[in-house]
Amino acid sequence: METPRPLSERARQVQPSPTLALTARAQEMRRQGIDVLSFTAGEPDFDTPDFAKAGALEAIHAGYTKYTPTPGILPLREAICEKLWEENHLRYTPDQIIVSCGAKHSIFCVLMALLDPGDEVIIPTPCWVSYPEQVRLMDAVPVFVPADEQTDFLPDYDAMRRAITARTKAIILNTPCNPTGAVFPRQKLKEIASLVLSHNLWIVADEIYEKLTYDGHTHESIGALGKEVFAHTITINGMSKSYAMTGWRIGYMAGPTEVARAVNRLQDQMTSNACSIAQYASLSALQDKSDWHERVRRAYDRRRQIIVDGLNAIPGISCWRPRGAFYVYANVAGLLGTCANGKTLETSADVAEYLLERARVAVVPGEGFCAPGYIRLSYATADAIIEQGIARIAEAVHQLEGL
Ligand code: PMP
Ligand code: GLU
Repeated sequence: METPRPLSERARQVQPSPTLALTARAQEMRRQGIDVLSFTAGEPDFDTPDFAKAGALEAIHAGYTKYTPTPGILPLREAICEKLWEENHLRYTPDQIIVSCGAKHSIFCVLMALLDPGDEVIIPTPCWVSYPEQVRLMDAVPVFVPADEQTDFLPDYDAMRRAITARTKAIILNTPCNPTGAVFPRQKLKEIASLVLSHNLWIVADEIYEKLTYDGHTHESIGALGKEVFAHTITINGMSKSYAMTGWRIGYMAGPTEVARAVNRLQDQMTSNACSIAQYASLSALQDKSDWHERVRRAYDRRRQIIVDGLNAIPGISCWRPRGAFYVYANVAGLLGTCANGKTLETSADVAEYLLERARVAVVPGEGFCAPGYIRLSYATADAIIEQGIARIAEAVHQLEGL
């Protein structure tokens, strides 16, 4: 029988998400009865709040179970505009908002609206796993600007300036940052804004962790720096992290009308609207004025202290204290070159593998975030699990030879 023609080059080249892959691997091990503690998934462990669920239940009973307009129901887009104005000082109108099936989907559509083959996109690293792959899916080129804990994981102005070429179209900015927990202060945002304006670039500002900042650091939206920079900015946000609504799949983009219209056309042909019931749940969530966020934020803050102090007490590991989001990005350079059972740990991927096998602790190696030498742990998990995980890591590290 004749074999079918090969899959597309794109399908063959695209890499799986390492965060999702490792999360699935830990879940599979657990299903097999192996006692694994997982720090892989960037997913709140809190239940979706009742005030969001209530909106969904009402929508089901009211029969709001049909297609909606592609960009989302008007009351939700109005509520998003209100939120963006009140919390972020960004003045958008509902026709500039496109609701999607998650922030990941919005970023994909925005990149598709902006990029032609060969265009370059500047991505400060360490960066979230999906940015480079999504840029490559557009046949465009990610250009990395690395930073480390010496500069609080903030990219250097001159390095960013030098990375800009005639093909540069956009900069992806993620603050608070996954995986580092860096929060870009106003001065850094101003530097990026000045580069964007002087080279006429777009900014894709992923603000999905905006509600989670610590130690007095606060989130600022780059688009709020002034009218000009606002016109160059596409703001990305969603319900997943702020409202523990990862499974509901609601995200959105807010940006200049021509970009919103282009994304609307793309989503028309791609997904149509996001789930109607989840849109009503999101509307109900955005209308909530309780102290839910603050209670959740405090719980993350407490866990952050436990995990940072715990990791820093382990020889060979040093952990910068994150200022936002719910991840630590721990430097494991001190473990490289050590041996376990005659095998040398040469990379952070080897370290992650060793921790999974020996300590039964699942973490994501820095290779996935374009910054090897580190491991990422999510602390969106119970205090007791964090304490147990740290104890297991410490024990496994003490067994390494040559430390
Ligand atoms: N941006 C960042 C930085 C993230 O960590 C995530 C979480 N996966 C997303 C976007 C996507 O979130 P979602 O698609 O669940 O809205
Ligand atoms: N954003 C989360 C993470 O980084 C969820 C997984 C994913 O979508 O990559 O772990």
